[in-house]
Amino acid sequence: MDTIQIHDKTFEIFIEEDQILSRVKELAQAISIDFAGTQPLFIAVLNGSFIFAADIMKSIAFPCEIQFVKVSSYHGAQSSGTVQQVLGLNQNIKGRKVIIIEDIIDSGLTIDFLLTDLLKQEPESISICSLLLKPKALKVKIDVQYIGFEVENHFLVGYGLDYDGLGRNLRHLYQVIE
Ligand code: 5GP
Ligand code: MG
Repeated sequence: MDTIQIHDKTFEIFIEEDQILSRVKELAQAISIDFAGTQPLFIAVLNGSFIFAADIMKSIAFPCEIQFVKVSSYHGAQSSGTVQQVLGLNQNIKGRKVIIIEDIIDSGLTIDFLLTDLLKQEPESISICSLLLKPKALKVKIDVQYIGFEVENHFLVGYGLDYDGLGRNLRHLYQVIE
């Protein structure tokens, strides 16, 4: 079994690149059908979603726009449970159809905060597309319309996700070996 070391932790392959990319295509196709002719605005949550967002965009079949925001809330391998402000949104979303692109939903607090913040601007709708969801970690109820993979409560890196800054460049998703 291929393992890798990042800082003090050892990781093993969890979902291979091929499987990730074919699932991402399926999500993009579903979005392309649901939003055909509506020119939605994608809002990708940095940093973790940058690769996922890029791959989603490449398979979207209609004219669309993307913005990047940052919600700083996470340090190291434990979710802090505190979220700060939304940075970087310099476009009015009033009346727009918005699709949030997130890497992973854990407690759900980050996405819940972002949703509440964006709803103040009165968009027509907000949908959520997350590569990963940890259903057993959720602390708030969130409707996620597009989910890549539902996973257990293990810490993951790769395909954009980091462990203390490293690992984002890995092509596969890796899970920590406890
Ligand atoms: P939440 O607010 O839902 O608890 O956490 C969401 C954020 O925590 C994600 O956007 C991500 O940045 C980070 N996060 C949660 N679980 C993991 C994980 O397993 N691996 C990594 N690298 N980040 C995670
Ligand atoms: Mg994130």
